[in-house]
Amino acid sequence: MRIVIIGSGVGGVSFAEKYRSLQADAQIMLITREDDGYYSRPLLSRGFSTDNIEQSIILKPFDKLRDENIEIISAAEVTAINRADRTIVVKRADQESVQPYDKLILAQGSAAFIPPPFRPYRDLFFCLNNLVDLKKLRRFRQGFLDRNQRPAWGIIGGGLIGCEVASDLAVSGDTVTLYHAADRLMERQLVPEDSVTLLNVMQGSGVEVLLNQSVQGFSKQGDKVCVETGVSAPFDAVLVATGFKPRTELAEQAGLETGRGIKVNQRLQTSDEHIYALGDVAELPNGKLYAFILPIRNQALWLAGFLAGQESKDWQPPAFNPKAKVHGFQAAHPYLF
Ligand SMILES: Cc1cc2nc3c(=O)[nH]c(=O)nc-3n(C[C@H](O)[C@H](O)[C@H](O)COP(=O)(O)OP(=O)(O)OC[C@H]3O[C@@H](n4cnc5c(N)ncnc54)[C@H](O)[C@@H]3O)c2cc1C
Repeated sequence: MRIVIIGSGVGGVSFAEKYRSLQADAQIMLITREDDGYYSRPLLSRGFSTDNIEQSIILKPFDKLRDENIEIISAAEVTAINRADRTIVVKRADQESVQPYDKLILAQGSAAFIPPPFRPYRDLFFCLNNLVDLKKLRRFRQGFLDRNQRPAWGIIGGGLIGCEVASDLAVSGDTVTLYHAADRLMERQLVPEDSVTLLNVMQGSGVEVLLNQSVQGFSKQGDKVCVETGVSAPFDAVLVATGFKPRTELAEQAGLETGRGIKVNQRLQTSDEHIYALGDVAELPNGKLYAFILPIRNQALWLAGFLAGQESKDWQPPAFNPKAKVHGFQAAHPYLF
């Protein structure tokens, strides 16, 4: 059996390791854009208060996975899936190769979602979706620290990631203004009472929180980037954190059924019987995406067991309670999901 996996996040790597432990003879190939190893995405939002984050965020170097007899093709991009002959096209350093599969596992995760009105201004703001983004942000910030200055940040989005990053920058000593469209923070995950507690904690850390804000776009004024809401407010840098978008493009081009994510059945199988999807990119029959570490790891272990012939029951989501990593904040009620 030749298994090919696209993506080296928690979904792809947990699946590869578990499948290897169950099937010593299988050929396992994992292809990823990443080049830094397998890292903890949740720790990205502690990326300013943790000095050695570029090292401590790495959970496993790719060489350790190679030691487990998992073939890793890093710094590579899968550009096409040819379902008719069960192959994929892989581009690496301007060279293309074609790789055959018996089973293909799509664990491609998600990109930062950028609202359409913001897209013309893409070179004016940062996002924080992966380790490359974090390194870019840290380099920018270091330029200020080297001059004994602190940058002033405008952060757009008071959801989970926006609040976490705003909090981490503020406790690290920067000036932070958070713009949120709704009338309370994290309104999708928290009951109103917990949103009030979160607001107090954020303000206590020095974050200026602006609710009910309609950000129309951005502009450049000298070295500053302005957030436009009817009035124009200048910042050293702006970070947009307005949600995530599952990477469905490859699956769509290959003619797989997609909705918000790649549609799978309760066995994580796509509309092609030889192709499975898990993690941020997979949409279950109930319309849900289980975009958190615990259920994704659970999907990966389950799928490895299923493909190794050791699971006969459908995948069922485990109980889990996500938590925002905002410094000093604890919700009194379970998060909504
Ligand atoms: C800042 C931040 C904080 C978070 N905090 C938490 C938290 O506290 N708790 C929690 O449970 N969850 C948290 N999450 C969510 C969690 O990290 C994700 O749900 C999880 O990492 C998704 O794992 P995945 O394996 O599905 O995809 P990913 O981790 O996104 O991995 C997908 C991989 O596929 C690669 N890839 C995609 N397309 C291709 C292609 N065509 N060719 C080659 N490679 C490709 C990507 O480069 C990437 O390496 C956070 C997310 C972020 C961004």
